Amino acid sequence: MTAMRATRLIKAGDIRTVEVPVPTPGPGEILIRVEAAGICGTDRHLFKGEFPSVPNKTLGHEFSGIVIDSGDTDIAEGTRVTCDPNTWCGTCAQCLRGRVNLCEKNVATGIHRDGGFAEFCAFPATKAVALPERLDPLLGAFCEPLACTLHGMDIGAAMPGERVLIIGGGVIGLFAVQIAALAGGEVMLLTRSAGKQQLGRETGAHHAVGSEKACREIWPDGADLVVECAGVADTVALSPHLARSGGRVVVLGVLPDGEQVSFEPFDLLFREVQLHFSFLNPFTHARAARMIADGSIVVAPLISRTIKLEEAAQAIAEPPLPGEVRAIVLPNG
Ligand SMILES: [Zn+2]
Ligand SMILES: [Zn+2]
Repeated sequence: MTAMRATRLIKAGDIRTVEVPVPTPGPGEILIRVEAAGICGTDRHLFKGEFPSVPNKTLGHEFSGIVIDSGDTDIAEGTRVTCDPNTWCGTCAQCLRGRVNLCEKNVATGIHRDGGFAEFCAFPATKAVALPERLDPLLGAFCEPLACTLHGMDIGAAMPGERVLIIGGGVIGLFAVQIAALAGGEVMLLTRSAGKQQLGRETGAHHAVGSEKACREIWPDGADLVVECAGVADTVALSPHLARSGGRVVVLGVLPDGEQVSFEPFDLLFREVQLHFSFLNPFTHARAARMIADGSIVVAPLISRTIKLEEAAQAIAEPPLPGEVRAIVLPNG
């Protein structure tokens, strides 16, 4: 076992599945056989050059697999693990004040170092979180997006009985629906896709609507918390307008680098609407893994299709299929 297949971003606009050496775990690293890796909007942003990238890296930052070489670490071989892709340096000014997601030297597996769209992947053992043996292997690929959603929902801090509006019916939006419902909120999902509205209802949304107008008809005074998960300029701009006076907005959606959105500061000030942004997954990966392992977050309906590694490059280069929530790559399937 010396060579393997990996889907690499050669540079923006050029992604291919190529033969590369199987990585050897370095100090403190483990090697896993990848079971499942999710294609995320960020992978498409990377391909299009809308998100900073490093040439010649294997993409895939949402993945899990089985430890086949524990290197010099004490993780047992055969353990199923999910990878927290963000490796903070621990010594920069941001890390030292606890803001690890703002680390000035963060190394992200699947962006800055080779990731999970490959048969095998090596990464730091400190970034591995164990998953149960009995778990459906496909579910492990959802720990990373759930961890990011948990961070955003922690910032939003929905309280029981609050009205929480989730905009966008992708993985992040459908996880946000579930977390808001678990927090005791009255939850509305706003997405144009009828299929995603249905998924929202099935996973805990009390209301699922397709337009701003329909949202206002149900909640004329607005939401206590609006969570933007679509990553679209129009819905980011709309979010404060759908928050009640004294309400909060959290933007989780990723817009292309450089895209602009305009706000009316007078309106936000006069109504004291709090506007927050949520980045990455600081200290939330283990919580996400636990919630997926114990079934408190429903994942299975979010798997739209599974594909082979050979199909990954094309799937990343093209937009998601209509109504698609998540395509999962099975590098060894
Ligand atoms: Zn992602
Ligand atoms: Zn740091």
